[in-house]
Amino acid sequence: MTIRTRFAPSPTGDLHVGGARTALFCWLYARHCGGRCVLRIEDTDRERSTDAAVQAILDGLEWLGLDFDEGPFFQTRRMDRYREQVERLLDAGRAYRCYCTREELEAMRTAQRQRGENPRYDGRCRTRREPRPGVEPVVRFANPTEGEVVVDDIVLGESRFANAQLDDLVIARSDGTPTYNFTVVVDDLEMEITHVIRGNDHLNNTPKQINMLEALGGVRPAYAHVPMIHGADGRKLSKRHGAVAVTQFRDEGYLADALVNYLARLGWSRGDQEIFSREELVAHFDIHDVNKAASVFDTEKLAWLNQHYIKQAPAEALAPLLADQLARLGVEPAAGPPLAQAVAVQRERARTLAEMAEKSLFAYCEPEAYDEKVAAKHLTAECAPLLAALRERLVALDGWREEALDAAVRETAQAAGAKLGQLAQPLRVALTGTAASPPIDQTLALVGRERSLARMDRALARLSAGPAAS
Ligand code: GLU
Repeated sequence: MTIRTRFAPSPTGDLHVGGARTALFCWLYARHCGGRCVLRIEDTDRERSTDAAVQAILDGLEWLGLDFDEGPFFQTRRMDRYREQVERLLDAGRAYRCYCTREELEAMRTAQRQRGENPRYDGRCRTRREPRPGVEPVVRFANPTEGEVVVDDIVLGESRFANAQLDDLVIARSDGTPTYNFTVVVDDLEMEITHVIRGNDHLNNTPKQINMLEALGGVRPAYAHVPMIHGADGRKLSKRHGAVAVTQFRDEGYLADALVNYLARLGWSRGDQEIFSREELVAHFDIHDVNKAASVFDTEKLAWLNQHYIKQAPAEALAPLLADQLARLGVEPAAGPPLAQAVAVQRERARTLAEMAEKSLFAYCEPEAYDEKVAAKHLTAECAPLLAALRERLVALDGWREEALDAAVRETAQAAGAKLGQLAQPLRVALTGTAASPPIDQTLALVGRERSLARMDRALARLSAGPAAS
């Protein structure tokens, strides 16, 4: 049997981490089994579905590198198929037209509540043969009235649902449009889905869907309902917890590989291994190993993984991403050193590319002003002769390479009987406006000859003008 999974988002917003993890599990399991993964856009709710959301979902999936074998199929383009299947159920006596008015339904529910029963449709139109003039009927599924549906879920284990508690679901509205649960069933059937992997918020739909699917003559797929993702406060993950949209992580400088690795480990594990390449995930991921407890989204851990992938990726691959981040800060990367050089210098100390861009700003634009506290501490009268001596040595330097720059700084300090920090720290402030930057030779290399000398001049001018000037 070829394993066929599907990811079936409703395009009502961005692709969030919960949906992304479901998509990943569907994709991984299909890849692991040598099967196929289908992308289906469940856009029949015309009021809530938007083209922008479709695009955002496709962008998010593409960025994560989840390529689907089939689709995207849009449910709105399959209306004829749903209508045909409604007719089939009507012909087979497994569905019926219901002419109840809104008022009638309301009165029925009120009476049920008064009797202490759960409100549900009582099936009064099941046996009706005559249309009711002036009422456009809906179509309801004739749910079995006896027995139970046993869902043997791969993740959650067994759940039992008494048929008597299940409603005769409306499958087509009075205007003929199909309803959500029905379109899912028709599609899962016709797309020959073998494994339905989705969030456990859909578990309650499952018995109804199984009944309809079996009424259509389908063989039920295996179900795997994956647990919700919570924030650190134990509540369902939402915007309140920070970034939740996949593309927001991209914009904040996370790498797709890091997020994929992180999401795969949310609910699934293999021993205590934390870092998995995509190949390893495909080789080892099995939906049967997914845990049923809710997972907690841990931003610290994601950042840790991101740093791992930043350290590992080829500098050339990160260069365009750093350029994007610099552009976000309004900085033109062409004005500074080659991006791969900045990546090579900064990758050990940045957890995201956004952070890398922030920390590399000094190499791409002039520091607007000194951090005054830092300048007051480090740009003192004593360092002026040291800086001036270094400047002279640097002017005479052949080339602008890290080893030579390092030697120049060390030798200047040594010659003056000063400690390295007594020169390096003021120099750092002169070059970057702050007291934190990569090792001083790398900082000089990134800023480049002309600009380094100019910035040293500026610091020397401040020193000769006295401490209050800048
Ligand atoms: N369209 C549903 C959602 O976005 C998923 C339905 C399903 O996977 O069966 O929540």
